[in-house]
Amino acid sequence: MTRRAVSVVILVLTLGLVSMQAAGGRSSITPGDLKDWLTFLSSDELEGRAVFTEGLGIAAGYIQGYLQAWGVKPGGDHGGYLQTVRVRGVKVVNHSTVTVRVGGESRTFKDGEGITFPRNVGAKRTLTIDRVEFAGYGLDVPGHMDLRGRTIEGAAVVFLGLNGPKDIDQQALRRVVTGRSRHAIDQLRAAAAIGPANPNTSGQGRGGASASDGAGGRGGGAPRPAPDFTTTQRLDQPISPAVTATDAFLDFLFSKAPVRYDELKKKASDRDPLPSFRLDGVTLTFNIDADYQLVRTQLTENVIGIVEGSDPQLKSTYVVVGAHYDHVGYADAELTDGRRPAAPGRVTAGATEDRIWNGADDDGSGTVAVMALARAFAQGVHPKRSVLFIWHAGEERGLYGSRYFADYPTVPLDKIVAQLNIDMIGRNRDDKKSEANTVYLVGSDRISTELDKVSRDANRSLQPPLKIDYEMNDPADPEQVYYRSDHYSYASKGIPIIFFTTGLHPDYHANTDDVSKIEFPKLTRVTQLVYETALRVANLDHPPVRDNKGPRAGKGTP
Ligand SMILES: [Zn+2]
Repeated sequence: MTRRAVSVVILVLTLGLVSMQAAGGRSSITPGDLKDWLTFLSSDELEGRAVFTEGLGIAAGYIQGYLQAWGVKPGGDHGGYLQTVRVRGVKVVNHSTVTVRVGGESRTFKDGEGITFPRNVGAKRTLTIDRVEFAGYGLDVPGHMDLRGRTIEGAAVVFLGLNGPKDIDQQALRRVVTGRSRHAIDQLRAAAAIGPANPNTSGQGRGGASASDGAGGRGGGAPRPAPDFTTTQRLDQPISPAVTATDAFLDFLFSKAPVRYDELKKKASDRDPLPSFRLDGVTLTFNIDADYQLVRTQLTENVIGIVEGSDPQLKSTYVVVGAHYDHVGYADAELTDGRRPAAPGRVTAGATEDRIWNGADDDGSGTVAVMALARAFAQGVHPKRSVLFIWHAGEERGLYGSRYFADYPTVPLDKIVAQLNIDMIGRNRDDKKSEANTVYLVGSDRISTELDKVSRDANRSLQPPLKIDYEMNDPADPEQVYYRSDHYSYASKGIPIIFFTTGLHPDYHANTDDVSKIEFPKLTRVTQLVYETALRVANLDHPPVRDNKGPRAGKGTP
């Protein structure tokens, strides 16, 4: 080989490397590609991408084709890009009980007789709790910090008042009031939560899934028993009990308390201030014992790709970046008297003819963002850690895909150092022009203060930086969005998360969430923020520290 030939080879190799670099990295995330992909994914041909439909399958194939072309490694089942998600319909016979010991007296209450368990109580076990805290209304909202600052971890929390106190806006804080058990158990690590039974709805709505939920299998054959609940989670894991109690139970529970139940009940129904105190000498024993029978399994798919890390040690650890690629589908009923019956979402005035909910922002925007991120990492310089990209199925029906992955992960869950979730990043909140440079971060500081700090650093690398708003990270957020997208499936396993969103708008879950309304330059910049955040986390020499200090950033945070 002549000297000239060698230098030509070197030149070609150099050019090759340069063009490979140019193909990836942050600058590869451009409005043009995002728009091309989203135009297809939110077209009518994809039928609104409802779970268990052809439209969602076409979307999965579309994403997988690109992953292959970009050299992203498969991260699903059997060496492929797809992970089959099993959506199980379950019938339950619940024998669970609670035994209450007050001083020397003890009484046992069965499920449905004084106490009501959720339909899914998890694995069989016995749980004894000797610290019982009465927490008034059980709220942590401005003016009512009933729990915050008290030691709740490991305790049973009892609260009253179906409607909350009279000085809170009952309508606005409806989700906060109905989420009290979850707040105590998931955020403050209570061992159990006991709330008041609603006499008007007792026996209903406790499982979250109606009998018709998911009924959509091919017809014919013998009738099948209706499931009591639908889940993609394992049934052999413990779940902290969140129960509702009738007067008979509460009367006994408070029988040696400093304030009698009758008095508390009167105050709660008048929505007057309630005291809070420890119930001394009270022990609760939950005997959790349910028999589950699978009556149906429906199948859908997560799409998963991996870009391998460059560090020989750290590449066995992962940053997970995800979005949900499903939406709510289409109306199969015909127009009746100018109305659209059985619509899967809201019908925008003047758009009654439109029968397809295209979900361009929700979550087409996140879907294409994660595509751009997969290509940026695959074709750019690989960070030390591996990055796993996941497009979750069935988020709209109850976080199906992410709950499944968190219980049946394709990489070890304890090797996931953080999860970044993108859901609706292509619009301005409430269509306000003043929101043009704003992105909302939710949950970023709740499990790892360090992760939040990393995201702020990442934002400073953008020119100009985005305005980060923490309003929706407030525990009193009326929409409670922290619990409402796929990141929560990871957070509930203790994994630090960030949820990136640009907020709700009039086309949210409406048949007019169309690609024509997407702000592509903004979508590009928010995707670049996720890129810079993922890059920094993937290059950290230690996993983001899990200090679990809970939300400190919230409404009013600059
Ligand atoms: Zn969504």
